Formats: sequence, C-alpha cells, structure tokens
Amino acid sequence: MPVTAPNAEGARTVALLQQLIRFDTSNPTGDTAALAAFLRTQFEPLGVQTDVIVAPNGKAVHFIARLKGDGSKKPVLLAAHADVVPVERDKWSVEPFAGIEKDGFVYGRGAMDFKGGMAVFARAVMRLAEQKVPLARDVIFLAEADEEEGQYNTSWLAKDHWDKMDAEFALNEGGYILQGADGAVRQVNVTTVEKTSVVLRLRTNGPVGHASRPLPSNETANGKLIAALEKLSVHEPGIRLIPQTRGYLEALARQNPGPTANAVRKIFAVADGRTQALGERELMAAQPANAPLLRALMHNTMAITMIKSGQAANVIPGQAEAIINARLLPGATTDQLIDEVRRVVGDDAVNVDFATPVSQEATRKYYQAKSNIPESSTDTELYRALRTQAAAVWPQAQVVPVLFEAGTDAVAWRERGVPVYGIYPYPLDADILKGMHGHDERIAVRSLYEGTDWVYRVLLDVAKK
Ligand SMILES: [Zn+2]
Repeated sequence: MPVTAPNAEGARTVALLQQLIRFDTSNPTGDTAALAAFLRTQFEPLGVQTDVIVAPNGKAVHFIARLKGDGSKKPVLLAAHADVVPVERDKWSVEPFAGIEKDGFVYGRGAMDFKGGMAVFARAVMRLAEQKVPLARDVIFLAEADEEEGQYNTSWLAKDHWDKMDAEFALNEGGYILQGADGAVRQVNVTTVEKTSVVLRLRTNGPVGHASRPLPSNETANGKLIAALEKLSVHEPGIRLIPQTRGYLEALARQNPGPTANAVRKIFAVADGRTQALGERELMAAQPANAPLLRALMHNTMAITMIKSGQAANVIPGQAEAIINARLLPGATTDQLIDEVRRVVGDDAVNVDFATPVSQEATRKYYQAKSNIPESSTDTELYRALRTQAAAVWPQAQVVPVLFEAGTDAVAWRERGVPVYGIYPYPLDADILKGMHGHDERIAVRSLYEGTDWVYRVLLDVAKK
C-alpha cells in the first residue's frame, strides 16, 4: 500500500496544479506566455535564476529556472510541457480549466498530461530552494512549449539555447506507474526509448464525373482509396520484441500469474509464429484494459487518421487522399514501412509516400536520423536514484525500463547524447489513462502526494552535496 500520508508538501503540489490548469494553454494555439509569467513569480522570490524564451510566433514561450549548485557535477534537468491538447467542452462533467478538486481527484485538462508532472517537478525544485539544500550540481526546471504540436518545441529551443538546457541527464514524461485494483503499486515504468512517428499519404486518381452516372468503383479515386484502406485497416504487422518490451512483459507476467503469464510465455516463443500470435490473443483477453498499449509495444502500428476527398455532393471526385500515422519500433526503417504498405495495398494505382511539406528524400533522412537516436542508458546516477527512491515510496514496486509508445520532447536531449527518463510521476490506472487527451482528465490527490515525495527524494539523491 502507498506509504505517503497526507502532508503539507503534497498539498502544495495539489494547489500548484490547480493554478496551472487555470491557464488555458490548449494547442492550437499553444499560448504558454501567461503560464510562463506565472511560473516566474513562483520561482524568483526563492532566489532562483529564471529565463523566459519567446518563439517568433509570440505564443510558444519556454520558461527555465536554474537552481545553482557548486558546479562539481553537470546539471540535472526536469522538463514538463506547458501546452495541452484541446477539449470537447460539452463532453466534460466539470469545467476543464478550473482546476477543480473533487472526490479525491484534481480535474482539468493537463491534470495527468502533463501539468500534474509539471507541478510535481516544479515543487521539488522549489522545495530544494526553500530548504537551501547545498547542491553539487545545478537543478534545472523547464516548462516548455509546443510539445503536443507546433514547431517551437524543445528541438527548436535546443538550436539556439542548448547552453540553458544542457545536462548530464533529464526527466520528462513517459512511463506509467501502474496501480493495481487494490491500490498498490507493483511496477514503475521508466521510458528509455521511444517509437518514431511517421506520417504517410495515400493518393489515388480517377475520372471526374457526374454523380448521376456512377463509374465502376475500381476506376474511381474514392473506390481505389477505400479498397486500399480496407486492406490496411485489417492488416496486422508481426510481433517484434525489443529488450525493453521483453522486460515489460516479464514484469507483467510476474505480477499476474495465470492466464497473463501463460500468454507471455507463448509470446516469447519467437521461433513459432503461430504460438506467438495465439499468445498475443490470449494476452489481450487477459488484459483487456491494457490491450491497446500492449499492442503498441509489440508492433509497428498504423492508424488511418485523415481522409480527404470530394468538393460537391453531385461530383465524382478525381482525387482522394488518406493520411496514415505509423509508429515505428526502434530499428524499423521507413523503407520497410512503405514497402509493407505497398504490399498490403497491392495496387500500383495507389501512390504511397511521406506526407511532408519538404522533399521525400529529406523526410526519409530525417526519419532515418530519428530512428538512430540511441536509447538512454540505465547505468546512470539518475536512473539508480529513480530505482532506489521508488522502493522507498512504493515498497512492492519494481522499476522497469520501457519503450514509450508515443513520442515526447526527449529527442532534443537524446540526440545530443543526454539520457532522458520518462515518467508520469504519479500512480494511475486504466481509468485515469482514458482521460489523457480524453474527457474528464484527472489525477488522484493521493497519487500527487506520492509523486511529490518520490521526485524530491530523487533530486536529493542525485544533486545534494
Ligand atoms: Zn504529454
């Protein structure tokens, strides 16, 4: 069971999160200026050096606070994105930008992704400042813009301001601290590697005509595109287990003897494709709430996200287009992906390429460079501190390095050789995960207390003199 009793520190994190939620930083437009200004008012009275960097669009604003150490070690950095995804307000049961606390939860857009993490990270750094803890290294807190979308993200920031964000290692969002039905935490996932998001475009052409005289479906742009999408939507790419996914499944099996453990054993029978496929079906049946995540960890995935065609109700359109968002496991290439899509579609009349404003070759190279970014080593002081201090807060928990199924802001550091560890620093369950980018996003107050305790302990461990 959780060991963190209610305390003043946890309460401060909750109060800060409520304030952060009240800044509507929906992206688009991703205006984080007011939130950055607010953070400055929180850090400056503590004597912490601060910086505000405004992007050319005037909206994406990055905030950096640097708590000085004696410089004997390189800095540790905590990064939290300040922007959030938009809301469908009518589907929420509470006002999404009010920071309401109700029934043991803080509700609001960003409560879990990632203003909750921002509150935990910011409070940990403020607390070091308040207590005047002597530090061997600088502790940097970064509230960043344009993580959910937009071009002025951490990669943009790193181009001109790398000196402000350079560190020995960093924390950002990523792994889940999963809570069992009994409330106990048995697994703390720390992401050390991410999938690569690739956007493909399928295009078809056909004769334009009057809708009163339909043409055979296999001749029209729409007919050809629909046939291609039908094949893609039922296509199941094969299982590929990278070491982190293996570790994740092993931990899952240890905690869930019975059907889950049996299914995992079958999935590990790599030489036997049929047993493996059967194992996956059994695992999905045994872990229905986790099924989308587990599928994402084991496969390159493809989602049809946009379909565009037609100008008028009575005109057969001459062009149709679909956008496919693929997520590639480390080591997979875009050449393999495009070959696979072409093979599944099996129709030369369907053009498959990257959806990109720049050239195909430049895009190919960009993805290639991304997929070659090394994973973060677990042989660092910061990773060890995450492990040691997790055991102090959640005695039953095992810390597991994992693959993150989505992309984050980590690439700016990882591509420069700085290890980044991704965490949502609070216990959560499948219900809470549904609120992420969904409706009634929330996080448990108790989870915020535990995360506050954990991250502060981690900072003491890596930065205290
Ligand atoms: Zn996020």
